[in-house]
Amino acid sequence: MKIKEIRSKSILSPSKVYDYVINPYVGCQHACSYCYARFMKRFTGHKEPWGDFVDIKINAPDLLIKEIMKKKKGIVWMSGVCDPYQPLEAKYQLSRKCLDILVQKNWPVVIQTRSPLALRDIDLFKKSKKIEVGLSITTSNDEIRKVFEPGAPSVMERLKTIDSLRQNGIKTYVMIAPLLPEAEGLVSLLAGKVDYIIIDRMNYGHADKIYERHGWRQKNTDEYFDLITNRIANDCVKMGVECRWAY
Ligand code: SF4
Repeated sequence: MKIKEIRSKSILSPSKVYDYVINPYVGCQHACSYCYARFMKRFTGHKEPWGDFVDIKINAPDLLIKEIMKKKKGIVWMSGVCDPYQPLEAKYQLSRKCLDILVQKNWPVVIQTRSPLALRDIDLFKKSKKIEVGLSITTSNDEIRKVFEPGAPSVMERLKTIDSLRQNGIKTYVMIAPLLPEAEGLVSLLAGKVDYIIIDRMNYGHADKIYERHGWRQKNTDEYFDLITNRIANDCVKMGVECRWAY
């Protein structure tokens, strides 16, 4: 793993998903096989495979203090092309420091992570009146999770995390994205633990070889994604869970 401390030029970037996005890190230790950010690696100048490098924007909080004074208030997404709670965050605390600034300035925040490290910042989540904390959980089967997301926390750890957040009164959501095999088993595990679920499908080309290797080619088709999305949506209606889809 190549880890490098860098000084970034800016941190509060415009986003197509929300108003702004903050990425305190370039690269992600979770190294998900389908990660769309891995296709942006060519802009990073790194030769290592995705997941084998992380640049740490050590001046992220200092930049944010300055930029937040100049920009119009809007919803900030943490994060777009890295996990804000990847393991290095335990040491560097850049996501925490940025979040602290946003909370102090009363800016709305949407957190998206795969890590129980988010629980460390429950004190800040509670201080904010405008925060949603989301866990990405892509399958109910941890063996399948290991195939696609070998470097990320287990399904069970993520379920426990969302449960703890909810029990602490935090607005929570789960991104079932991308829709991996056996994602439909998640609804019963999430009922009563989330404010809403968002579903998104796998984009073709992002993990085709993995599907081939495991004989799952039929689980990477339009028909499969439509079938499972409908099944999840129906289960959500039955179990009283709000369901949104992003495709
Ligand atoms: S956690 Fe998110 S950013 Fe990190 S590798 Fe996985 S999909 Fe990519």
